[in-house]
Amino acid sequence: MTQQKTNTPSTLHRDTLAVRAAVERSQYGENAEALYLTSGYVQPSAEASARRFAGEEDGYTYGRTGNPTVTSFEQRLAAMEGTEAAMATASGMAAIMLMCFSLLRSGDHVVFSQSMFGSTIKLIGTEFARFGVESTIVPQSDIDAWRAAVRPGTKLLFAETPTNPLTEVCDIAALADIAHSVGALLCVDNCFATPALQRPVTLGADIVMHSGTKFLDGQGRVMAGALCAPEALVREKFLPVQKNVGMVLSPFNAWVVLKGLETLSLRMQAQSAATLALARWLEQHPAVARVHYPGLDSHPQHALAMRQMSGVGGAVLSFDLKAADATQARARAFHVLDALQVLSLCTNLGDTKTLLSHPASTSHGKLTEAQRQAAGIGQGLIRVAVGLEHLDDLKADLARGLDTLS
Ligand SMILES: *Cc1c(COP(=O)(O)O)cnc(C)c1O
Repeated sequence: MTQQKTNTPSTLHRDTLAVRAAVERSQYGENAEALYLTSGYVQPSAEASARRFAGEEDGYTYGRTGNPTVTSFEQRLAAMEGTEAAMATASGMAAIMLMCFSLLRSGDHVVFSQSMFGSTIKLIGTEFARFGVESTIVPQSDIDAWRAAVRPGTKLLFAETPTNPLTEVCDIAALADIAHSVGALLCVDNCFATPALQRPVTLGADIVMHSGTKFLDGQGRVMAGALCAPEALVREKFLPVQKNVGMVLSPFNAWVVLKGLETLSLRMQAQSAATLALARWLEQHPAVARVHYPGLDSHPQHALAMRQMSGVGGAVLSFDLKAADATQARARAFHVLDALQVLSLCTNLGDTKTLLSHPASTSHGKLTEAQRQAAGIGQGLIRVAVGLEHLDDLKADLARGLDTLS
């Protein structure tokens, strides 16, 4: 996060900032933001170089400490999330790594939900535990459990809403109050909702974490991540660590995601509308036992989700197939997935192409059957990350398998 003048006043509307916020144009007047593929920067003078290395003057010195294309991505994402600053990272997991490494020390305590992204649970619960960071894992939507878990040494509450793959929602404002009551910070993984639908800082969150790999890129091309936070946190905590650990976002990937942000709002609205229509269709299908989607009245936290997510449910749903037992459920799920001719069997999400996956044998494959049952991830569960294909083609491709189950 090297501070460079932005070309855009922050008083503009968010839709405008999503296509305009970036560092100033170069002397060539390019209209699309420039891609600066360089690892080093020529210094104007030895004195200026010394001031930059001493932190007394802003200016780029080396690719690990900053890049103008990366700064443009950081400025644009911060503007969209409504935070003072942002720090880009090589991936979403790198963002979580950077946050924990910057904020925690041995003996500190973290509270997070059992429904979070699997690698997040592993990173904090297992890897950071090796360095003496303690954690308590709570049920996603049980506010009393979050409240009971905090203690004087709690430094961080980490929430993800909605979650993968069951789209469980938690109350961001309530969690912010709990975090602040013990002087802890609340970080929200805003990967599923994106700032187009949900801005956690307006509800009291302190840090917003992103996997830019998903909806921010939006077209399944590159990996990226980011932490959006107050300027002081980024400058004093994240930047000094990032300079030394080097989990930096490549300028090329930053440029791809920067351009992805320009269409984020349109994509989220269109893909969410298609997801709601598909969710309603699946709910009526005789082969389907249950559909998990925050936009449906049947979702247990429908009202909270609609309040928190601008009245839109997002572009990921999952559904359970009817089956007599786990063996039949798995066979049926595989039948539906193997019958696809248009949509992709692919564990990513947030693409313009619709992607389907079987969580029990992929993202949640390492859990024991008992752990999977406890998490609600049955063998008959299929996740659909809805893209931009025509709704009729989506339904027809799913019906190919759903209508031919034995
Ligand atoms: C994908 C994902 C991550 C991790 O991001 P990467 O870019 O794959 O490292 C974290 N949280 C959620 C909710 C995700 O979907």
